[in-house]
Amino acid sequence: MELAIGVDLGGTKIEALALDGEGRELWRKRLPTPRDDYAGTVDAVARLVEEAEQALGTSASVGVGHPGAISPATGRIKNANATWLNGRPFREDLERRLGRPVALANDANCLALSEAVDGAGADGWVVFAAILGTGVGGGIAVGRRVLVGANAVAGEWGHNPLPWPTAEERDGPPCYCGRRGCIETWLSGPGLREACRREIGLALEAPELVRRAASGDPRAEAVVRRWEDRLARALASVINLLDPDVIVLGGGLSRISRLYDRVPGMWGAYVFSDRVVTPLRPARHGDSSGVRGAAWLGRAGGAARYGTSLAVEGQSGGRGCGHSASSPHAGSGSSSSSSSSPRTRNRP
Ligand SMILES: [Zn+2]
Repeated sequence: MELAIGVDLGGTKIEALALDGEGRELWRKRLPTPRDDYAGTVDAVARLVEEAEQALGTSASVGVGHPGAISPATGRIKNANATWLNGRPFREDLERRLGRPVALANDANCLALSEAVDGAGADGWVVFAAILGTGVGGGIAVGRRVLVGANAVAGEWGHNPLPWPTAEERDGPPCYCGRRGCIETWLSGPGLREACRREIGLALEAPELVRRAASGDPRAEAVVRRWEDRLARALASVINLLDPDVIVLGGGLSRISRLYDRVPGMWGAYVFSDRVVTPLRPARHGDSSGVRGAAWLGRAGGAARYGTSLAVEGQSGGRGCGHSASSPHAGSGSSSSSSSSPRTRNRP
């Protein structure tokens, strides 16, 4: 039985789990992240892996979901909100510590992969997954492979400008990235709270705002509707570019259940098509999708270091999934550093 260990490395906690070949969870543990302590963070991830293997009585593949991205230029982590990881050769250090290859991807890519393998996107070939939480991230899975991209930013739509802005939305809120009006500044949890404060003078958190809207408060309803329309526009631009088979949402704001009816009712006005059939679904594995995606990623044995895709192979299609994972490469960019790498075949 092939076992896969996934680790979700976040700014406040590190979570690890072990899956069997059918995606059943065998073991799980959480540790607080050693803040501002790079060596301690590497050590904590490695210790969780070792502890899992001890509990399982066997070795397993290892995949890690991390914040930010690995710079194709330097091999070091960039763009991480856990800032003590930035500029560090995390993969190299972790592989040295564990004495084996480790597969890495960012959290949104792990969400996309998890949901594409056996979640809400399992019936789709191209899955776009977005995290709507403290920030806004996005990832793409094609044929159960993470699409990394030449610059390792494929799917990262959060710092594109909000499309089709109204007059009031032009020159939008400032973003930590240095620009104004990024999608993240409108659609994230803090972005929605700020919009609520600007529009009705109350900085409500999303659950309270949605509760007030449901109880008939017209001002709260208007704020939620504008947020939904912005989400519809942002996703319409994804559909126009990528036209995914399924769009999956994760993160705290993905729990706003009304959006799954409302947003598809709004995006038709922006998508360049006579009709839009794209399903919009909440992540099936919820908060566990990041760590599950990391496990599936590791099961592929690491794949290309900075390449175009990371394959998940050997996952049977027998769990209601529409296709076999041994399908040919999807997309055009898989020639240079693809799953033909020996690392792909390095399985436990
Ligand atoms: Zn930004």
